Amino acid sequence: MAANLAFAPPKKDKLRSLGIMALNGMFDEMDGVSVLRQAVEELLKNDVAIVSSFGADSAVLLHMVAEVDKTLPVYFLETGKHFPETLRYVETLQAHLGLSNVRWLRPDPKDLLRFDPNGDLWETDPDSCCHIRKTEPLDAEIAQLGGWVTGRKRYQTAERGVLPHFELTSDDRIKVNPLAYFGDADVNAYKIAHGLPEHPLFAKGYKSIGCAPCTTIVAEGEDPRAGRWRGLNKKECGIHFDFNGAIAKPVAAMDKNLFKDGAFIADPFRPWEEGDDPATVRYTHIPAAVFLANRDAVLANPHPNGLLIAPASKVEDLAADLARFASVAISFPGFTDGRGYSSARLVVERYKFGGEVRAVGDVLMDQITLMQRCGINAFVVTHAATRTALETGHLTTVNLFYQPVGTTEVPVGTRPFLRKAVSETV
Ligand code: SF4
Repeated sequence: MAANLAFAPPKKDKLRSLGIMALNGMFDEMDGVSVLRQAVEELLKNDVAIVSSFGADSAVLLHMVAEVDKTLPVYFLETGKHFPETLRYVETLQAHLGLSNVRWLRPDPKDLLRFDPNGDLWETDPDSCCHIRKTEPLDAEIAQLGGWVTGRKRYQTAERGVLPHFELTSDDRIKVNPLAYFGDADVNAYKIAHGLPEHPLFAKGYKSIGCAPCTTIVAEGEDPRAGRWRGLNKKECGIHFDFNGAIAKPVAAMDKNLFKDGAFIADPFRPWEEGDDPATVRYTHIPAAVFLANRDAVLANPHPNGLLIAPASKVEDLAADLARFASVAISFPGFTDGRGYSSARLVVERYKFGGEVRAVGDVLMDQITLMQRCGINAFVVTHAATRTALETGHLTTVNLFYQPVGTTEVPVGTRPFLRKAVSETV
């Protein structure tokens, strides 16, 4: 039944949104397989992946995928929090349907260490937990594609009630929802008609299955997704942010102005603002003076936060609590103010803080090398020329130091025999 429609609009085409509307009009009445076939064979060709939770209804979409092309990439977000039954179900469905390209996407271990060292972020800050476990790993893959296919359906929640077959995301990708118009009865009928294996937890009352800590059994008559994040004002994990614009996305930031590990990335932190509550803020660099005045409240705050060290701050007063913070920001208010270098050395060398140490404020390209040698490993950069220098690797190099750090730098003015001794140890 698929229309023979060679519609492959280029990315960033101004008419693309009109094209999406036309597609929805044309495929409004089409069955799920036809929508999927249109997406992968005409619209997006080799530029698409399937995203599946391998939950209670996932077998339906995956069966359609197997009908169209068993080699299509299928992404499974292995958050590390799934029920063991779900992990086994991935293997079961993969074998049953003959899918040959199922890929497990895992969170970045560095993010887990930094934001969720105890594995309990789901309890205190589920939006952020979903962000590092789902959104970030998926975004990295989807960024390389023109679109992706989901198994969402209109009947699942009120928020999904107007879900179309084709959506245009804010970053100009196409999201395809072949099952948008499927009802509960359609899903069950499809499973029976094609003899699809059930998720082992379905018979126990789990109607929508996600991570174990955030999934409960659904009572008769409840929304299928009522068991997800029960008791919280949370309906989605964030990977469907575009369609459900109200979803909180606290870790996400639109501006990629944090230079770290060789690239500019979205900064998960925000600066402290007047009126912020030290007991409840999250992903905020709390000024040292505020921290010292509210130490107990900050230490009891369950969210990831950072510490902002100003030139006048005494690092010694903060030393015992540095490990509590996911990030330490050193303030450089002006090019001629060098106190930040000393603070950074104290934090890194004397007090052995091993996490992110970032420079904020007047961060310019001539300072970067000097900051790096003091242990600063991240830079918040707004200066355009500095940004270009970092991106292209054209930074000022410094070979002579008046205040050497470590054991390898040779101070200017040191007597020749000392310089020789130092160079022989290198
Ligand atoms: S569903 Fe729960 S455990 Fe899974 S990533 Fe989201 S908050 Fe964390």
